[in-house]
Amino acid sequence: MRRVVVEDGHKCPLCPDHWDEPEHFVWSDLLRAVICHPCTYEIHNGFLGFAEWPPANQYSAAGKMKRIRKLTGLTFQQAKFIYLRSWLLDNNERISETLKAFNPLRAAVADLHAVNIKLDAQISRMCLRAVDFRITWHDDPAIFSALIRVMPGQVHTTIDISNTREGRR
Ligand SMILES: [Zn+2]
Repeated sequence: MRRVVVEDGHKCPLCPDHWDEPEHFVWSDLLRAVICHPCTYEIHNGFLGFAEWPPANQYSAAGKMKRIRKLTGLTFQQAKFIYLRSWLLDNNERISETLKAFNPLRAAVADLHAVNIKLDAQISRMCLRAVDFRITWHDDPAIFSALIRVMPGQVHTTIDISNTREGRR
């Protein structure tokens, strides 16, 4: 996730109805635009575990996902692939040459689907591993910073560090 400082008053294309702190913006490879940080959680959760644009009765931020569809013109699987690959890159994960070269706009639907299932599982596993670390109450601030790096979503805001060296300082 690459933070970008924008001019005061910049509107996030996914939630243009309100003002956000100029420091709370990041670059989105998927939208090729600067979006607000809170929207990144909703995008993450809107792709992971879903195979189609999530319906409103299954996902509270379904409207935001619909907006991504409108703004990008991509299919769900194409958008999901672009999001997942850039998530891996932003988190400094090594990705294969095949994955680097994979073009979601030209790939056969079945291939794209299969690649996404694999990436979805890989990223979900990384997130689960990070949650396990949290549960074992690691006493090492370096692990917490690694956790924050691999969990772009809600977890870093809910990590309780009161039981760690950092928290006891
Ligand atoms: Zn936003």
